[in-house]
Amino acid sequence: MQSSFRNYINGRWETGVTTAISENPSDLGSPVGEYARADAAQTDAAIRAASQASAAWAFTTPQRRADVLDQIGSEILARKDELGDLLAREEGKTLAESIGEAARAGNIFKFFAGEALRATGEKFASVRPGIEVDVTREPIGVIGIIAPWNFPLAIPAWKIAPALAYGNTVVFKPAELVPACGWALSEIISRAGLPAGAFNLVNGSGRQVGQAIVDSPLVDGISFTGSQATGAQLLKTAVERGAKVQLEMGGKNPLVVLADADLDQAVECAVQGAFFSTGQRCTASSRLIVESTAYDAFVAKLRERTRALKVGHALGRGIEIGPVASRAQLEQNLGYIEIGRHEGAELVVGGATVECATPGHYMAPALFLGEPQHRIAREEIFGPVAVVIRADDADHALALANDTPYGLCAGVCTRSLKQATHFKRHLQAGMVMVNLPTAGVDYHVPFGGRKASSHGPREQGRYAAEFYTTVKTAYTHA
Ligand code: ADP
Repeated sequence: MQSSFRNYINGRWETGVTTAISENPSDLGSPVGEYARADAAQTDAAIRAASQASAAWAFTTPQRRADVLDQIGSEILARKDELGDLLAREEGKTLAESIGEAARAGNIFKFFAGEALRATGEKFASVRPGIEVDVTREPIGVIGIIAPWNFPLAIPAWKIAPALAYGNTVVFKPAELVPACGWALSEIISRAGLPAGAFNLVNGSGRQVGQAIVDSPLVDGISFTGSQATGAQLLKTAVERGAKVQLEMGGKNPLVVLADADLDQAVECAVQGAFFSTGQRCTASSRLIVESTAYDAFVAKLRERTRALKVGHALGRGIEIGPVASRAQLEQNLGYIEIGRHEGAELVVGGATVECATPGHYMAPALFLGEPQHRIAREEIFGPVAVVIRADDADHALALANDTPYGLCAGVCTRSLKQATHFKRHLQAGMVMVNLPTAGVDYHVPFGGRKASSHGPREQGRYAAEFYTTVKTAYTHA
């Protein structure tokens, strides 16, 4: 089947086995485009190409790798408005958020261009006479990148850039919902001077393309971001065949508001963390744990701020909350609204669909008052739904914050240095925020979580080298 947006395999644009329409969740009457989809056999061809290109790319000079990555980063930054417009239309986050994400993707490539040049090693004295020991890092080989739909430029960037910087080759599978962003990023990468096969794009389903990547003995490492269920299943298969695996999965991130917090600041942290990007962030604050004495005032302010949020077309002026990304996700969110009501949580604002000028998956951000055992307070919803939970005191708040199978990000709002320090130490999460929303991180420092949220080494910054390289210890007898 024909589509001008094809897969990129072994340095060539290849027609897919089928095609699929990418929808615009802000306007279902104006789809983004039609994109080629691969099957397992075409994915295998991409994997073979990446495997064959592996040695050539691994032994390129750091300068060459830096130049390629720098060129990709520069083009993304130069075109951030246009890429942001595409992202907003395809995923549904607001234009400002989308342009910010495109810029972030560009900066990530620039950062790893620098990292390619900063490859270092260590020299040790041997315990034996006349021997020297060097420890260096080498690429691990072919990396399969399986990406989610919620950050369709930034997450692929923070996987592809370090993979290439450290000398690996790549097979990239974007999520089904966002082939246009995956294609646009790949088109830029395709013109940056990589050898044929070093980077490959295969759009398609998780069941066919994703599974083929997971199953292939030629794929040495898999970096996955997505749901916990898929991640857990993928891990079993990949580990059985000895592949290296890095997983970033869900979160049920707490934001603790202590009695001494600046309440306006805490409300802003809660609104941004819970509802911006339509709540579709694995770092979203979906549990707002508030110390009893601040509870009523916090809830009153947050309810009004939430009610006033402007929901609408992702490209609309003044819009703060874009549509939900897909019908399936909207149905899941509405299902949880019903679950929350049935469990006895009090819905204080939002939670219903919203009619806008164009047909789309619009929903008013929902605020519940609930209990820690409610399903809406325990399960990841991945939508603009937050639940406020009352804590007796700071110790109780900390215990509630840690009472979750997840451990990606956690936040605390307080004016007390002592409490801030205590929470930073005791929150069981990979990332901790003090007087900041749980979502919104820098691009040059490690990103990742604990418990059911993550598996394997951290992503981003120079910590990315842990996953994308393997260590060699060389002994020399002079
Ligand atoms: P979500 O529910 O947010 O879409 P998923 O975990 O289903 O999260 O999807 C994340 C990524 O994993 C997507 O690119 C998807 O296509 C891919 N995927 C889904 N199922 C599989 C699978 N069985 N094997 C490999 N990848 C998969």
